[in-house]
Amino acid sequence: MIRLHVIPDLSAGAAVAPTLDQSRYLTQVMRLKLGDDLLVFNGRDGEWRATIAEILKKGVVLRAGEQVRPQTLGPDLELIVAVVKKSRVETIVEKAAELGARRVRLTVTQRTNVEHVRLDRLDAIAIEAAEQTGRLDVPTVDDPEKLAAILDGWDGARRLMFCDETGGAPVAAAVTEPDPWAILIGPEGGFSPEERERLRALPFTTAVSLGPRILRADTAAIAAMTLWQAAVGDWER
Ligand code: SAH
Repeated sequence: MIRLHVIPDLSAGAAVAPTLDQSRYLTQVMRLKLGDDLLVFNGRDGEWRATIAEILKKGVVLRAGEQVRPQTLGPDLELIVAVVKKSRVETIVEKAAELGARRVRLTVTQRTNVEHVRLDRLDAIAIEAAEQTGRLDVPTVDDPEKLAAILDGWDGARRLMFCDETGGAPVAAAVTEPDPWAILIGPEGGFSPEERERLRALPFTTAVSLGPRILRADTAAIAAMTLWQAAVGDWER
């Protein structure tokens, strides 16, 4: 069944107006008719069955029925990733949503050479991926921030899995504490020696290796999230 992320609050009997684009998707692409059912969620109120109640020029109106699933939240995993070129950042955000990250923080490191991102586009990708995977929360995507600033403002309770292309411990051996965690992936140029030194000296950091091959940032992000999920995430629950 179609799953649609909507903005308004959801409760039994509530009238819910999706966006015009979503309305067109429902009636023109998926060819839903008056009275047809779909599932809606908003990241706060769980998942609800909804019916197409009205089809108007300015969009459709849905009527929420009963709640199908209560709100759930995945493990507290953040992905901090250096800004890389557009298509790769888009892949990273999509895969982060699929693999259960709660937040994607974009970062600018010393060797980052792309700085501009379209946050609205990345948010839309995160929402679509959440709709497709069946998760009930949508990962947030943060505007790029300097790596040094992120580290300066660190919440000490969160551990950092630093993916170091020059080598580190295997994830399965090094990552044993439960969440909250963050995973850090560098840019195509890698981390500078200075950054690596600072990262390794921080008390909340665990430097890990993703194997003997150097991976592209998007592959590294997917591999790291997979290994983290297998080690301490919700894949075992
Ligand atoms: N230009 C660098 C590679 C950067 S790869 C070089 O040639 O060494 C981009 C990022 O992916 C790295 O900063 C790191 O965070 C991650 N990464 C890639 N391969 C990795 C590996 N084998 N182990 C750990 N991290 C890796």
